[in-house]
Order: sequence, then C-alpha cells, then structure tokens
Amino acid sequence: MSDDCIFCSIVAGDIPARVVAETDDALAFLDANPMARGHTLVIPKAHHQRVADLSHEESRAVFDLVHELAPVIEDAVDADAHTIGVNDGPDAGQEVPHAHVHIIPRFENDGGGPIHVATGDRPEVGDDELDEIADAIAE
Ligand code: AMP
Ligand code: ZN
Repeated sequence: MSDDCIFCSIVAGDIPARVVAETDDALAFLDANPMARGHTLVIPKAHHQRVADLSHEESRAVFDLVHELAPVIEDAVDADAHTIGVNDGPDAGQEVPHAHVHIIPRFENDGGGPIHVATGDRPEVGDDELDEIADAIAE
C-alpha cells in the first residue's frame, strides 16, 4: 500500500467507492468521473504503477476480472461494445499512479472514437524498421 495513493485508499476501505467485484488480488469499482455509463476500473489490490510491475498472479487476477466483467457490464448498461484500455505510464496519460484497466462501455453512435486516436500522428515505418522492431521485441 502506498500512503498517498487514492486507489490504495479505496482498497483499504478508507475512502468510498462503488465496488462491483472483488477477488483475492483484484478489485473493480465504478469510475467516479465516467466517460460512459458503466465505466469501470479494475485494479490490482497491491500498489504497482505499471502493468509490467504486476506479478503474473496479479496480472492474471486483474485481466481475468476484466474478462469476466466486460459482458456483465455490457448487459447492465445495455451497451453495444467496449473500449478496454490502460494508460500505462504518465506519458500515456496515466493520472492515478496505481495500475488500472478501464472498461468503457460503448454505444452505437456515441460520438466516440476507436483506440487508434490515442497516439496522435502515425509514424512513417518502413518494412525494414518493422522487421527490426519485431526482432527487438521477439529477442
Ligand atoms: P488514468 O488517467 O488512466 O490514470 O485514469 C484515472 C481514472 O480514475 C479517471 O478516469 C478518474 O475519473 C478515476 N478516478 C479518480 N479518482 C477516483 C475515485 N476516487 N474513485 C473512482 N474513480 C476515480
Ligand atoms: Zn496504490
């Protein structure tokens, strides 16, 4: 637990949240400033900032809960789809430094966009560079 982390305070029960699901290692609650009806956050109970900081068990707990909740949320708010994503690090827009997955219900003609709008301009990446990047990741 991190003393000045708002999500750790929710896990500890020190500040209220609309908890919708809980397991040993993960917690899900409604976003207090929702981008859509049913906008839910799924977090590890332990304090870690980045997805890669989670243990395999914690990662499994978080993403299993995302997998389980997505259709339940969709039914609950009669949504047509979801955008599921993580702002993984401050430069990706992460404001709360406790890893969390956003489940954002989407509705036909809701005026939103796909996840592709998250990065701004696309870089020019040729075949050689794609090969190099694939090799660097696969190594
Ligand atoms: P991010 O920019 O990915 O770090 O998103 C943080 C999210 O946490 C935002 O969508 C906020 O609306 C949400 N949030 C911040 N404080 C609370 C809180 N006390 N309870 C529920 N959601 C919160
Ligand atoms: Zn925390």
